[in-house]
Amino acid sequence: MTRPSHYKSKIDPLAYMKENMSAAGYEGFLIGNVIKYVTRYPKKNGLEDLKKAKDYLNKAIELYEEEEEENRKKNLCWICAKCLKPNSRTILRGSTSTKVRCAYCGSSVRVN
Ligand SMILES: [Zn+2]
Repeated sequence: MTRPSHYKSKIDPLAYMKENMSAAGYEGFLIGNVIKYVTRYPKKNGLEDLKKAKDYLNKAIELYEEEEEENRKKNLCWICAKCLKPNSRTILRGSTSTKVRCAYCGSSVRVN
């Protein structure tokens, strides 16, 4: 198969976007593509579109997990990225894990 020359570029567009866009911008792009392929697959490219949706969803999951890990290291809430310092959180101790509840957005973040 002969590919058009613009496909031979060494720049990976997704890697480039991830590097140069805000995390929220890149996430929006990924989720927008998931929605695009999921909504058009019955009338357009069927399985191929479903697989594309899956690829974009996997990338969005990857990004989310990376953000979560970065925020955890910085002691920030994974949802609103605000500080989870002791005075801004409630500690919720369960039998198998400990969570803290963010005072800003109300989400719970597992800490162990
Ligand atoms: Zn929060």
